[in-house]
Amino acid sequence: MTSFERLKAYAQRKLAQLEASGQRRSLVETARQPSGRAARNGQPVISFCDNDYLSLSQDERVKQASADAALRYGAGSGGSRLITGNHPLNSALEARLARVKQTEAALVFGSGFLANLGTIPALVGKGDTIVMDELAHACMHGGARLSGATIRLFRHNDVFDAARQMNEATGQVLVLTETVFSMDGDVAPLSELAALAEAAGAWLMTDDAHGLGILKQDNPAQIQMGTLSKAVGGYGGYVCGPAALIDLLTTRARSFVYTTGLPPAVLAAAIAALDIIEAEPERTRNASRHARLFCELMMLPVPESVIVPIIVGPEAEAMRVSAALLERGFLVTAIRPPTVPAGTARLRVTFAAGHKEEDVRALAGALKDIMEQACAVTS
Ligand SMILES: *Cc1c(COP(=O)(O)O)cnc(C)c1O
Repeated sequence: MTSFERLKAYAQRKLAQLEASGQRRSLVETARQPSGRAARNGQPVISFCDNDYLSLSQDERVKQASADAALRYGAGSGGSRLITGNHPLNSALEARLARVKQTEAALVFGSGFLANLGTIPALVGKGDTIVMDELAHACMHGGARLSGATIRLFRHNDVFDAARQMNEATGQVLVLTETVFSMDGDVAPLSELAALAEAAGAWLMTDDAHGLGILKQDNPAQIQMGTLSKAVGGYGGYVCGPAALIDLLTTRARSFVYTTGLPPAVLAAAIAALDIIEAEPERTRNASRHARLFCELMMLPVPESVIVPIIVGPEAEAMRVSAALLERGFLVTAIRPPTVPAGTARLRVTFAAGHKEEDVRALAGALKDIMEQACAVTS
């Protein structure tokens, strides 16, 4: 066999294994539209699984700001930030982010994933310890592994376990958690974690990917990262914190230094979106209202964010419910291991400002129907 053939055989063998364990993933063409609508493989659906919580990706003003910047400044940034890719819109956006987060400074990265991958290894290394929530996002785990520090996981949102892990840590300690957890929608006990970290001489770093624009929360963390790709509706990542930290990351975060700056259109979209988030708090209220209404209709606990997990358990069952919803015109993709712990396959239902109340009621109706049918079949 040639190397080319061996590569193909290797990929096919791996895929067959993944297929057999139900873990193969594939892409479906999805063209998103305003008001939570989308065409999924051409089929019109109402989507309840976007991260565009404030519906800003489809906002006319954001689109216009992005288009204007592209026409005025070009399609790409032309280089890394440290060479020629540092368009003035970067510092405008960074000033904006620092103001929103009430920190001294901010640094924009290519994405949230890149922000975590670069920031964590710039702060700790071999001999140090990372104490992190077991459910923290894959890119926090990725950054932690890259750093070479010892990783100690604590049970999800368990302050006592976090304290125990901090007590047993060596070297500089970095505590990592999300503010709003991406797959569960629950909120981290930030003030308790901050107090523990302070007492232990540790630094606290939070991932606010699902909090910005949704949760008004005083964040005591020294290092606050997040993304511009969720409620902000565009693309990019950021870290906010003291100016000295930002200067250090500018020099040492490899995923900042060795990659191209974001296109001006992307930066302009984020600035326009942050302006709207500030000026129109009713967007946040609407998204939250939809989540609360849904939980009321489904007799679920009051949600802490706009993410509502419906834990189904077996992967096949989650897939089945998701497919049944799709038949009725609702897009709620099933989330399976390894994205979530084994045995907790779920529907991750998310709500956005642009949804209509009747959409939320219709989704709840369809879901109850589908779940009741399942019970009738099994009993
Ligand atoms: C989506 C997400 C990221 C990655 O952000 P991107 O900008 O999409 O790369 C990081 N952390 C969490 C918790 C996320 O949900």
